[in-house]
Amino acid sequence: MRSSRSKPFWFCNLIARKPRTAKADGAPVNTIAARLARAGLKSDWDFVLHLPLRYEDETRITPIVQLIAGNEAQVEAEVIAADVVYRGRRQLRVTVRDATGSLVLRFLNFYSSQSKQMAVGRKLRIFGLVRGGLAGDEMIHPRVRASDFDTPLPRSLTPVYPSPEGVPQSWLRKRIDRALRDVDVDDVLPDAIRARYRLTGLKDAIERLHRPPIGADADAFEQRTDPAWRRLMFDELLAQQLALRAARVARAGRHAYQLDGVGSISSRLLAHLPFSLTGAQQRVWVEIESDIARSQPMHRLLQGDVGSGKTVIAALAAARAIENGFQAALMAPTEILAEQHFRKVAEWLSPLGVQIEWLAGRLTGAAKRAAQDSIARGNAQLIVGTHALIQEAVAFTKLGLAIVDEQHRFGVAQRLALRGNSSEENAPHLLMLSATPIPRTLAMSYLADLDVSVLDELPPGRRPVITKLVSTRRREEVTQRIRADVASGRQSYWVCPLIESSDVIEAATATETFERIVEALPDLRIGLLHGQLHSAKKTEVMQRFVRREIDLLVATTVIEVGVDVPNATLMVIEHAERFGLAQLHQLRGRVGRGGDQSFCILLFEEPLSEPACERLKVIYGTNDGFEVARRDLMMRGPGEFLGARQSGLPLLRFADLQRDAELVEQACVAAADLLAQHPVAARQHVLRWYAASHEFLTA
Ligand code: ADP
Ligand code: MG
Repeated sequence: MRSSRSKPFWFCNLIARKPRTAKADGAPVNTIAARLARAGLKSDWDFVLHLPLRYEDETRITPIVQLIAGNEAQVEAEVIAADVVYRGRRQLRVTVRDATGSLVLRFLNFYSSQSKQMAVGRKLRIFGLVRGGLAGDEMIHPRVRASDFDTPLPRSLTPVYPSPEGVPQSWLRKRIDRALRDVDVDDVLPDAIRARYRLTGLKDAIERLHRPPIGADADAFEQRTDPAWRRLMFDELLAQQLALRAARVARAGRHAYQLDGVGSISSRLLAHLPFSLTGAQQRVWVEIESDIARSQPMHRLLQGDVGSGKTVIAALAAARAIENGFQAALMAPTEILAEQHFRKVAEWLSPLGVQIEWLAGRLTGAAKRAAQDSIARGNAQLIVGTHALIQEAVAFTKLGLAIVDEQHRFGVAQRLALRGNSSEENAPHLLMLSATPIPRTLAMSYLADLDVSVLDELPPGRRPVITKLVSTRRREEVTQRIRADVASGRQSYWVCPLIESSDVIEAATATETFERIVEALPDLRIGLLHGQLHSAKKTEVMQRFVRREIDLLVATTVIEVGVDVPNATLMVIEHAERFGLAQLHQLRGRVGRGGDQSFCILLFEEPLSEPACERLKVIYGTNDGFEVARRDLMMRGPGEFLGARQSGLPLLRFADLQRDAELVEQACVAAADLLAQHPVAARQHVLRWYAASHEFLTA
C-alpha cells in the first residue's frame, strides 16, 4: 500500500511532457552540429534516416532550346555577356549560349568572386528553375559550376534534404554520405517476414531513397509509392506497433488491486438512478467491471459521443472501487466540469454514504490542507477535481481507480508514456472517457496500448439536434427566436467568438456581447460566463443556470465540454467560422440532452474562407461524432488532430495514417508475427528506430 506523498505514478501518464529539445552536449548553440542536434539529427543512424524531400536531376544536360519554363533543368553553356545592370536594384546579368540557343542568368546578390567565375568566355554547368521571360528564358540564382564540358555527370539524382535553418544543403549531403558509408545497414527483419509482406531489402531501399538511379520514376518517389518508400514506411509503422505492444506488456506485468467484490453501493446506485441503463451502457459496464476485477491494471478508453451517458459509468466504476475498500479519483479538464461532476456524483453517491472530497486549484490554505489530509488518511473515498489532483501533493492512501474525463483534453500522448514508477507495488486501474472518437487507423496506431469500449447508443427519447447556418446579417431573427424559446420555458446558450490568442480579449468580447444582448432582450434573465471570472463567480452563474434562474447564458468556450443542462435546447454560436470541427461538435453537444427538440444556430460572418466553409458544411451535414472526427482528421492530419505536436508524441515521419491505412494494418499483424516468431529481431528493430529518441523504450 502506498502512503508516500510523492505524486501518484498514474499521473505520470498524464502530465504533459515537453517535446524534447535536444541540447547538443557542450557544443556552442549555433554550430552546425548544434543546429542539427536540435532538429534531432545526432547519430549516424539519424542521418541515414534523414530522407530527401525531393530530387534534382543533374544526370542530364538539356539543350537550351528544349528548356521548358516552370521546370528545373541543367544546361552546359559558355558565357557570352556579363553586366551589372540596374533594374530597381543592382544585379548581375549573365548571358550564356550553347549550340542551340541562349539563356539569361540573374543574380540579385552577388560577390565579385561570382562575377569572375562568370566572366565572358567561361564554360559553366548551370542548374536552376527555368522562367519564361519577355526576352526569352531566364534562371534566377541558378547553381553554377565551372565545367570543361567533359566533367562526368552524376549517375544518380541529387537529393534535396529538409534542412534546419543555417545548415547548407551541401553540408548535409556530405554528412549523410559519410553516415551512409559508416553505418552498417543490416536488415534485422527475417527473410520470412520480408517475403510475407513483400518488402525490399532495407539497405537497398535506403540507398535508393538517398540516391535514386538514373531513370527512376521521380513521381513514384515524390508520391512515396516507390517500393523503397514502402519499406521505410512499413518499418516505421512496425516499430510503432512493437513499441505499443511493449508498453502493453509492461503494464500487464504490473499488479493492481482486484476490485472484484460486488457490494451494496453500486447496486443501490443502479437501483436509485432515475433511468435504466441503455444496452450500450450495460455492455460497457460489464467490460469495465470484469477488467477491474483482475489483478492487472485496466487501461481502458470509454468512447461515446456527446450525451451518450459516460458519467454514470464513471460513477458505477467508482462505486465498485469504493465498496471494495479503495479510493477512486475523478479528474476533469475544466473547473466548471469538475464541479458539475462533483455535484452530480454527490447527488448520486452521498445518500449511499460515500465520502466525497473536492479538490481544485482554487482551494486555498486550510480548506486545501483539510482536503489533502482527508485524502491521505483515507477518509475521502471519492476525490473529484481538476488537474490540481496532479499538481498538488496529493497522497492517496489506497487509490484503486483513476478516472479521467474528456481525456483528449489532457493530451493523448502522455498516456503512451508508460514509464510510471514501476517500483510502485500496485497500480490503480485507469479509465479514460472521451467524446472525441478516434478513427480506426488512428486508434490502431496511437491507441494500440489501450482497450476501447464504445457507447454507440444515445439514451432513449433523444432527438438529433437540428443545425442551422445563419449569416450574421440575420442576427435580429436569432434574438427573437431566443425570446420565443424562453417564453416557452426553455433555456439557451450564446457562445461568444473564439479569440485564439488572448483569454483577456475573449473575456472582454464576451462582456460586450453580453451587454448588447441584455439591451436587445431586456426582459430576459441573462448570465455571463467566461474564463476570467473568479471561480466562485463561475460556480454561482452555472448553478443559477442549472436552477433555471438564468434564461440565457452568454459564455465563452468554457462551457465546451461536459456541461449538462437538459433544459437548454438552443445554442447560438457566434462567429462559428472561427471554431474547429471538434469544438463545434462538442459545443453543439451541450443541447439535445433532454427529450425536447434542440437547435444549434451557427452564426457566421461573410466572406467565408474555403476551409471555414468546408467545416460548417460538415457540422451542418452530420450529427455523428465519428463522421465529424473522420472529416476533422482528413482536414487537419493526425498530428493536429491529436494535439500531438504540443505534447511531444513522436509523430510518424514517413508514413501517413490516412494515405497508408493499408500499411498500418499490415504492420499491426506483422508486429504480432515478429514478436511471436522472432523476438530478438523485434527488439533490435524497436531499438534501432527509437534508440536515438528514447521514446517508447519501456520494455
Ligand atoms: P456524456 O457522455 O456526454 O458525458 P452525460 O454522462 O453527461 O453524457 O449524460 C448526458 C445526460 O444523459 C445526463 O443528463 C445523464 O443523466 C443522462 N443519461 C445518461 N444515461 C441515461 C440513460 N440510460 N437514460 C436516460 N438518460 C441518461
Ligand atoms: Mg461528459
